[in-house]
Amino acid sequence: MKKKVRHLLGISGGKDSAALAIYMRNNYPDLDIEYYTSDTGKELDETYRLIEDLEIYLGKKIIRLSAASNSHETPFDHFLKMYGGFLPSSQARWCTNKLKLEPFERFVGDDLVISYVGIRGDENREGYISKKSNIQSIFPFRRNIWSEDVTMKAFGNQNISLLEEIFMSLNLENIEEQLIEIVRKPVSPRYTLDTKVSQLLESSIKGTNELIYGYLKTTDYPLAGDTSFPLLNNEDNLDRENIFQILEDSGIGIPKYYKELEFNTATKNGKYARSRSGCFFCFYQQKIEWVWLLEQHPELYGQAMQYEKDGYTWMQDESLEQLREPERVEKIKQDYLKKLERSREKTGSSLLVDILAESEGEGCASCFI
Ligand code: SF4
Repeated sequence: MKKKVRHLLGISGGKDSAALAIYMRNNYPDLDIEYYTSDTGKELDETYRLIEDLEIYLGKKIIRLSAASNSHETPFDHFLKMYGGFLPSSQARWCTNKLKLEPFERFVGDDLVISYVGIRGDENREGYISKKSNIQSIFPFRRNIWSEDVTMKAFGNQNISLLEEIFMSLNLENIEEQLIEIVRKPVSPRYTLDTKVSQLLESSIKGTNELIYGYLKTTDYPLAGDTSFPLLNNEDNLDRENIFQILEDSGIGIPKYYKELEFNTATKNGKYARSRSGCFFCFYQQKIEWVWLLEQHPELYGQAMQYEKDGYTWMQDESLEQLREPERVEKIKQDYLKKLERSREKTGSSLLVDILAESEGEGCASCFI
């Protein structure tokens, strides 16, 4: 008997996963999606509030996964103790493995799973996602909804005749003959897979999706077990602006920590915000975001400082004790204003969120999307 395929969507507390949950509920109400969140115990209150609001909107419980459900401590503190107080960093990111990926993989077990990920059409990354073979990631906000491993396998040169057969068996009346011409063209150093996939999607998104779906039926990928998949018709390609629109239109709104707030320096005023969800002390945040934390959530800044002991610090080049000195805060703000100016000239965008999001590609899908 064929195994049932589960459809999962992780809510990180960030704008993109929140928008994705809304988008899936509105566009694919018949998909029985299980929503979950992996709680580190160290998120901002704004994140917890967003999750509660989403539960009301979705009319469904968002399952709280906890990495240390039997511990009397928060999951982060529990594992920090296990690591002897060694703070995570971008080079030693034990937190995303222990607090996000492992609980998710336990939740999935051996089930066949489609995991919906909110990476947008204007991003060029896959994020830090599970690589287990029973978990297949789908990216509904992108023109190319498939993960890299799927397109690589499907359009490998060894599959050209298989894809031709699949093409012939499909009822693709309205689909251009051009599609099959592109399928027949072998990938080479001068004709890369990226170019081929782009040309296929340009020719027909639906046709390309049908071909990949047909190919998946010959594999062990989770989608091979489903009899239909409504996202084959999805032709959307959504960018940051679209995401904000989805959040606004739903009434949920943009997560509160994105709200731009005024700050002062000795010479001029500026605006700052936080650029992403995740733990309030996340080492991925920029210096100006630490200043934001210091000024907007001084108690949380104090808690983050408490973790800096035994020679471990959140940043390599300075401690939070040093960063909170008034001259240092002033310097960070001044540097940030200059960076903002440069970035405006470069990107033409005056949106703070665009500038803060420059480092958005870093980190894991479960924390920040
Ligand atoms: S938000 Fe940052 S600190 Fe928290 S689990 Fe993710 S990477 Fe680690």
